[in-house]
Amino acid sequence: MSGELIDVLVPVPLLEKFTYKLPKEFQKKNLERGIRIKVPFRNRILVGIFWDYSDTSKNNIRSYKFIKEIIDESSLLDKKLLDLADWSSRYYHYPLGEVITYFFPPSLRKGKEAKFKESIVWQVTEKGDFVDLLNLSRAPNQRKGLELLREKGDLSQHSLKAYGVSTITLKNLHKKGLVKKLSLEQLPLSSHQKQNVKEKKLTSEQKVSVKRISESEGDNKIFLLDGVTGSGKTEVYLRCIKELVQKGKQALVLIPEIGLAPQAESRFKELFGLRVASFHSAKSDRERLDVWLGAEKGLYDIVIGTRSSVFIPMKNLGMIVVDEEHDTSFKQVERFRYSARDIALYRAKLYKVPILLASATPSVESMHNAIKGKYQLLTLKERATGADLPTFFPLNLKGKVLKEGFSEELLEEIEVELQKKNQVLIFLNRRGYASSLICKSCGWVSYCDRCDAHMTVHSNPSQLHCHHCENKKQLPTACPSCLEREFESFGLGTERVESYLRKKFENYPVYRIDSDTTRKKESFEDYLKIIEKGDPLILVGTQMLAKGHHFPNVTLVGILDADSGIFSADFRGSERVAQLITQVSGRAGREKKPGKVVLQTYCQEHPQMEELLKGNYRTFIKKIIEDRASSNTPPFSYQVKLQAESINGLLSRDFLSSCLDYINNSNLITKEIRSVGPMPSLMEKKAGVYRWEVNLFSSSRKPLHQLIDHLQAFLYQPKQTRRVRWSIDVDPISII
Ligand code: ADP
Ligand code: ZN
Ligand code: ZN
Repeated sequence: MSGELIDVLVPVPLLEKFTYKLPKEFQKKNLERGIRIKVPFRNRILVGIFWDYSDTSKNNIRSYKFIKEIIDESSLLDKKLLDLADWSSRYYHYPLGEVITYFFPPSLRKGKEAKFKESIVWQVTEKGDFVDLLNLSRAPNQRKGLELLREKGDLSQHSLKAYGVSTITLKNLHKKGLVKKLSLEQLPLSSHQKQNVKEKKLTSEQKVSVKRISESEGDNKIFLLDGVTGSGKTEVYLRCIKELVQKGKQALVLIPEIGLAPQAESRFKELFGLRVASFHSAKSDRERLDVWLGAEKGLYDIVIGTRSSVFIPMKNLGMIVVDEEHDTSFKQVERFRYSARDIALYRAKLYKVPILLASATPSVESMHNAIKGKYQLLTLKERATGADLPTFFPLNLKGKVLKEGFSEELLEEIEVELQKKNQVLIFLNRRGYASSLICKSCGWVSYCDRCDAHMTVHSNPSQLHCHHCENKKQLPTACPSCLEREFESFGLGTERVESYLRKKFENYPVYRIDSDTTRKKESFEDYLKIIEKGDPLILVGTQMLAKGHHFPNVTLVGILDADSGIFSADFRGSERVAQLITQVSGRAGREKKPGKVVLQTYCQEHPQMEELLKGNYRTFIKKIIEDRASSNTPPFSYQVKLQAESINGLLSRDFLSSCLDYINNSNLITKEIRSVGPMPSLMEKKAGVYRWEVNLFSSSRKPLHQLIDHLQAFLYQPKQTRRVRWSIDVDPISII
């Protein structure tokens, strides 16, 4: 088809596509859906996406603007990805013009050229393999370069540089015929695998899983790999991927957090060599572009990445893996509120490939689907290394005197483990020094003036910090209310625990790992290296430490406050606690030495706590599923949250009431749909605005989506955004 007018997706928060005129020279061409086009939009030039030819019967052709430039010859996204974008936009009720930007890396979004910078790889020649290194004793740099390549196998120019080997050194080695230069395309699979890696012998449970997954090649089966911590889930999907790669297919592996990327990447590289790439926000725009284009051209066999990687094009996709599928980081909680896990499920369906959801603590949703038979359940009950699962020891805190949150018993356990030269992990899911500052004489509390929340005390640098709005303040020298000067820090944070443990166990290093200490790009990796060395030490950390890491020498996990979450107002609270506690406990005793978990609690008799203390996640989650069924909450109903925020709570409330009036006037409200609210959100005031919400529940999806479609006509009227900001959250993950 061709024509004079075209419909373009423009990255603005509006539902419609925009119509533009094509200059004469382009009118004969057949433009392909998905190509990038520069268009004028409200005094700016934006990068849009060609979607379709417009209805030429539009009469006022003159009023349309000409496009500025066509960037791509052909679409960088294949037809299925374009369909995925369209589906995601409709499912999450978010404008397609914005959704489609997620499918491109930053530099392509800005309109840069889609040019792959050839990735150069260096390899030792036969001569280089046998030459006596002493011959190079007068050229230490060359010697180092050659040694590295011999030891590690092929290396990219990029990583050689990171090891301190310069391009000049490589050129000199090249002149001597000791190394040769290849491009990524030239590397056949067999040549870039490391020779010296011995394959592990799979356990019988692993074998069953690998077999079932491999049999489903080319078929859209969904697997839930429910394997206890350390059961070798990674090993299972590595094997399945290996079979695929040998057939020339690619795999996409989603992980919840950047922190997990280095470990995952190096494990994949051991098996697959250089055709493994990772994609996440710590990479530069240039690096991300290369990974993206490399995947699109089929030069990378495996792409490992965080949330947004679910949109990366793959020339020959053969399988998707979602590791730690229960992790809430897969859900984006602002703007385009998508779940990468759920989009991955739909992507696998479109591409007719198997998808593997892996976790030691599967989400309620996935477990429910497995029980229903919608997902194939694969179970690994034993740890792969033969190690036992850690033993749980509840520690009843009632009537006990604590020192900075520690019971005498826990402190003794720590001492014992350290003396045995083991590592200890102390878990507390609250960063900072203390949860709040209180005036000793009048009871003034450090509230945030922009949120319904306390400001946390931080000691380094010393300040008050609101974790909800990033508001920061100096610590007061005198009480703002009574001018007295004595304060008390209330509640525990990781900084406080760290400083106490430093004093208490002064002969051992204490490392705090939370988002404050790992802000720098490499710092988390540095910590991992220290931990891997295995020397006795204490780790203090938040949920960052709970995720997927393999710490061979940690034998004791201490959970300071197991109770938080059990009494949460969120119906998902207990699921989250169970996941966190099981995951963090799973860091203990992963290899030869047995692991022990000490849980400090005040509510040992609480039925949910009792269940948790047995250390059996599966029975716990089954109970939660029963609770959800009887309360008719997700996954037994579908939920959409409509939230409004404004400078005044009444405005937010009234806006939501008018939304409800609007839908009540349609005939779309059926018996299946239940609406709750308007009511203030759990934290009504946040970052200076007042948030209210309406939650819509329905026993089937379709009527709910129809209702939201209808409501959009109302929401997108320009007048609505003048006083309130609204958002639609499909399948929300929390009630805050
Ligand atoms: P998970 O992903 O379930 O946490 P991993 O795949 O990381 O487990 O495996 C945990 C540990 O067990 C790793 O050190 C891994 O190398 C080892 N491992 C995995 N499978 C086997 C096996 N079949 N035999 C021996 N060790 C194994
Ligand atoms: Zn005071
Ligand atoms: Zn705040």
